[in-house]
Amino acid sequence: MDSTIMDYELTIKSIFWRIEKLYRDRVIVSRLSNSRRTYTYEDFARRVRKTVTFLKQNGLEGKNVASIAWNTSRHLELYFAVPLSGGVLHTVNVRFHPREMDYVVEEMQDSAVFMDEDIEASLNVKTFRLNESYDEIIDSQEPAQELPDLEEKRGAVSCFTSGTTGKPKGVIYSHRSIFIHSLSLLAGDVLGLSSNDVVMDVVPMFHISGWDIPFASLMTGAKLVLPGIRPKPRDLVELIKEEGVTLAAGAPTVWIDVMNYVEKEREDLGKLRTVVMGGAEPPKGLMERMRKLGVRTYHAWGMTETEAIATVNRSDDLNVLTKQGYPIFGFEISLLDPAGRELPWDGKTMGELAVRGAFVTGRYFKGEAKFTWFRTGDIAVVDPDGNVKVVDRQKDLIKSGGEWISSVQLENAIMSFHKVSEAVVVGVHDERWGERPVALVVPKEPTTPQEVVEYLKSLNAFPNWWIPDRIIFVDSIPKTSTGKLDKKVVREEVKKLLQSP
Ligand code: ADP
Repeated sequence: MDSTIMDYELTIKSIFWRIEKLYRDRVIVSRLSNSRRTYTYEDFARRVRKTVTFLKQNGLEGKNVASIAWNTSRHLELYFAVPLSGGVLHTVNVRFHPREMDYVVEEMQDSAVFMDEDIEASLNVKTFRLNESYDEIIDSQEPAQELPDLEEKRGAVSCFTSGTTGKPKGVIYSHRSIFIHSLSLLAGDVLGLSSNDVVMDVVPMFHISGWDIPFASLMTGAKLVLPGIRPKPRDLVELIKEEGVTLAAGAPTVWIDVMNYVEKEREDLGKLRTVVMGGAEPPKGLMERMRKLGVRTYHAWGMTETEAIATVNRSDDLNVLTKQGYPIFGFEISLLDPAGRELPWDGKTMGELAVRGAFVTGRYFKGEAKFTWFRTGDIAVVDPDGNVKVVDRQKDLIKSGGEWISSVQLENAIMSFHKVSEAVVVGVHDERWGERPVALVVPKEPTTPQEVVEYLKSLNAFPNWWIPDRIIFVDSIPKTSTGKLDKKVVREEVKKLLQSP
């Protein structure tokens, strides 16, 4: 029997209705190159409507349009204007090489690109620079009165994987997936965002739509703070204190830099109470340091193909908090063996995490394969109650003498040593064992490889044969465009370091 409920499409237009009707006096703050813009949702909505007119006048209505931009109000206006006009906003990673930018823009057949001031690339497509004269042009437009009706399954935002595992692959999020995922983030057991929050999104808006946090924040009327072009730890701390940020989100590497700055400068973090960390496992030591300043951590796991946050852990116990957490609403998980058979959730059996849900990729852009369950390439164990622990990425596990070593576990163990700031572990070829672990370590204060090894042994956390054969001190560790340890580059670097006398 059919339901009696009216047809109502779950679209960004529905979020925009709230922005215009319910939260007119709420505020958005954006760091721009020479200033900080503070404006109300009402002014923001008017700018969105003017941008829709601008798109129309340039023949871009309903088209695919690319942005190569940081977290700014100009970018946020495009987040709404492009999908509201029926088009798809393709958020391009600012750290891609111009060749890669051209490749993905061509793949998506973007009709134009909106590019931040600092990006040095000239692409084979019409380009608008996001700067002060752009602001003036938008301001001079008439606000669009009519916005088209949209179907919820229509594409709204697209994004390519950052290519740490090969050639970038495209995914397109729909109005519906953005709506449902953002709604899930608001739930009390997930991020619990509310209109009382001041939210700072440090997750790049060019990657997985900033984990949908901009959409979720505006859905609920929170004050949203956008940290702008290439924010430094000092900029972030200034914004946190001056804007009264209560909740912020970003990759652990961002918070390592922030905490190093805060401790060095004897700063504090104002009203900040919660930091959502994901994209990589947050080191326990980092979470401890934040807790001393009264800041709790939520740990989230997700990927481009799951539209970012898909599991969340909010435990008060730091030993439990290193687990990736529970599936959020509208999302299911399963643990599989290589033949695709389901494995038990016993907290011990390792398998590949497979996922499905209302915001999971069903196929790649131009891809043939259709997924009913998407295999993530992450190796995990799942507790009987559904708490996920990611052991490692399949390709980063180190196979030594036929046994697996988790690079992530070793990295976190090394980083828990107080004399160490950062560490990365990769496997290198070994005649006898197949592979052996080697660590690159950024020290925080003077130490020796022997001291690090002694520390690892003292933990009694894993067998001695896990301990890296070489510990090499370096000044910094190569990161991907999204701030993760770039193991592809690290492997090359380690190879070179081991070859040099
Ligand atoms: P890319 O695959 O291009 O690096 P993604 O941002 O999509 O970009 O990366 C997703 C991957 O990041 C996941 O498959 C997982 O391996 C890793 N990851 C994400 N969040 C966490 C987390 N909280 N803990 C451990 N690994 C994580």
